[in-house]
Amino acid sequence: MIRKILRDDPAPLRDAAESKLAKSSVAAAPARTVEDLLHELQVHQIELEMQNESLRQAQLSLEESRDRYVDLYDFAPVGYITLSRDALITEINLTGAALLGVERRNLINRRFASFVAPEKRDDWYRYFAHAIAHDDNQEYSISLQRDDGSRFHARINCQRQIRAGKPPTVRIAITDETDRSNAEEELRIAATAFESHEGMIVTDANGIILRVNQAFVSQTGFSADELVGRTPEFLRSERHDTIFYEQMWKTLRENRSWQGEIWNRHKNGKVYAEWLTISAVTTSAGQITHYVGTFSDITQNSEAAAEIHRLAYYDPLTQLPNRRLLHDRLNQALTASARSGHYGAILFLDLDNFKMLNDTRGHDVGDLLLIEVVRRLHTCTRAGDTLSRLGGDEFIVLLEDLSERAEEAAAQVKQLSNKIINIVEQPYHLKDREYHCTVSIGISLFYDNDETIDALLMHADLAMYKAKNAGRNTTRFFDPEMQLALDRRSTLETCLRHACAREQLQLFYQPQINSRRGIIGAEALLRWRHPDRGLVQPHEFIPLAEETGLILPIAQWVLETACAQIKAWEAHHSTRDLCLAINVSALQFRQVDFTTRIKQTLEKIGANPARLKIELTESLVLDNVYDAITKMQELKAIGVEFSLDDFGTGHSSLSYLKQLPLNQLKIDRSFIRDLPVNSNDAAIVEAIITLGRTFKLNIIAEGVETEAQRDFLQHQGCHDFQGILLSRPVPLDGFERYLELSYG
Ligand code: C2E
Ligand code: MG
Ligand code: MG
Repeated sequence: MIRKILRDDPAPLRDAAESKLAKSSVAAAPARTVEDLLHELQVHQIELEMQNESLRQAQLSLEESRDRYVDLYDFAPVGYITLSRDALITEINLTGAALLGVERRNLINRRFASFVAPEKRDDWYRYFAHAIAHDDNQEYSISLQRDDGSRFHARINCQRQIRAGKPPTVRIAITDETDRSNAEEELRIAATAFESHEGMIVTDANGIILRVNQAFVSQTGFSADELVGRTPEFLRSERHDTIFYEQMWKTLRENRSWQGEIWNRHKNGKVYAEWLTISAVTTSAGQITHYVGTFSDITQNSEAAAEIHRLAYYDPLTQLPNRRLLHDRLNQALTASARSGHYGAILFLDLDNFKMLNDTRGHDVGDLLLIEVVRRLHTCTRAGDTLSRLGGDEFIVLLEDLSERAEEAAAQVKQLSNKIINIVEQPYHLKDREYHCTVSIGISLFYDNDETIDALLMHADLAMYKAKNAGRNTTRFFDPEMQLALDRRSTLETCLRHACAREQLQLFYQPQINSRRGIIGAEALLRWRHPDRGLVQPHEFIPLAEETGLILPIAQWVLETACAQIKAWEAHHSTRDLCLAINVSALQFRQVDFTTRIKQTLEKIGANPARLKIELTESLVLDNVYDAITKMQELKAIGVEFSLDDFGTGHSSLSYLKQLPLNQLKIDRSFIRDLPVNSNDAAIVEAIITLGRTFKLNIIAEGVETEAQRDFLQHQGCHDFQGILLSRPVPLDGFERYLELSYG
């Protein structure tokens, strides 16, 4: 650079050298040439230039570093503010100004306190007073407020600055903490929420419990230690099946949330209901990382709901269904009856003279009676029956699934109402005093949804009033015909009870004939000689006798009479070989000592068992095939014969037929009636005859009325007959006359 100066412009330098030489020649001894001076000047000049250059360099780097400092200072992530001893802002960086929301130049000499939230200013003055008086470094969190009213959480760091000869200042550094404090606040809220009164549980994506709150611990009875690390499965009760849980997980995977009622088991074993909400926690990519479950115990809700239900549908005194629930049940019962074809009934019960008890001994005693009556009613009814209290002393019993036949259904209801009347009649002890009470009952039958509920209740109510008018403590049916039928039936029952003892029963004999051998025997058919009604046919009293159990003594009478007849016939050669058939009822056959009775009777009378034939029906045998076989075999062993009556009308099963120790099949008269015209019947009869031949059984046809029928049967190979073509069932003397006529 120096060489350059010299080369570029030597003229000024030469001038300077010459002037210096002129001055120095006066003072200095040694003579120096201009050239020397010129050279000296040039060197000096160069030195000066060099000094200037390094100065400029220093200046430059100073400026650079100052800029750097200013940049660092102004754009630091922290707001720097210098406050005077009076807490006025004397210096502030750009970040600080930006935080306070005011241009820097407008901040100088502003009181910093004006940016502190008013409620925090006292705190601020305290901090500042400390800072200006002490050297320690202090940090505070404080809420600052900008001129526009917006606030932010600031963390401020205060540090006193001492400079020689100058009053102390305070340098504060401010950072905006809003984000952090928001995050902290959220954490605080979350933590508080987690410890709420609802049970909460956090699991990982595999359902392993990571965290539970206190409420969950209380709800389940398990401690956090017992719960963490396990899956919630061990809390399960047996109230839900696996399908329930599968559905829950499916919904959870698809919708990321599930809620519903769930029954879990407490550590103490008690099962409780909870409302569970499960939410899946996912990453931004949608991958499930956790599940959060919230449980609220709703057992009490359920209990409350149950209580509401109880109040709405049950009578508070007796806990019986009230009128509203009865309506529901009646609705269902009517539909069920229409579907099944079975009768149902309602019994309208009204206690007799209940009002008098209430008036004389008070309502609490009345209540005691009602409770006791209900207790007794429960003992008469079946589990499926509905016992309901309409109010006061009025009750309804709803019966379902009675018989498919009206009269039988009515008899079933009547039987129950008799039971009720009897049990209500028993004495009561109400507050140490004996009390007697009776009940009047009105009955209305229903079938096939043919009446409305209101009509049914009204009919039963009317019937109940009829019972009251008839002198109370009795039952009446709404349907007058039904009532009549029942009345007849009950009179019949009373009479039938005495029929045996009063010798009103009689055996009729209907001959059985073989086309080659003539009369082979007879069927004994029962008749009842009623004093008023004359001769009563079996279909009018045998079902009733079966239902009431009266059939048993009657059957014994039939057996004894038949055996006596067999014995009597033995005495005469023309009747010695006759076989007498008797009919046996289901109840009789089911008796455990059925065979013993027969054997004993035969023995007692001394009748030949081989002359006794027992007619059984298919349904009776199929009721318990093995029992039937055993009994039959036992009797067959002593010679008694068996015939299968009404054959073809039951559910004949060939396999059973093969096993039964039968002697005879008796073709039911319904197949004979339309012979030989009805080709169906003809085919059936033909098949039965073939069957008999196959199983080596004798075949007899009953109800043979015409020659054509007999001819058809003979032609098919059936040679034994019974029917009015030969003789009606007749009393003994008539039968014996018939014998005489036949044999001459
Ligand atoms: P069942 O054993 O099938 O008796 C045959 C029925 O057919 C008898 O009716 C008889 O009178 C009737 N009958 C006979 N021939 C003819 C005919 O040509 N045409 C028509 N239409 N009917 C004929 P009954 O005497 O009225 O007896 C009815 C049922 O009562 C018997 O049917 C039997 O099941 C039952 N029964 C009769 N006596 C007794 C008995 O002592 N004990 C039991 N448990 N049941 C009996
Ligand atoms: Mg018979
Ligand atoms: Mg028959």
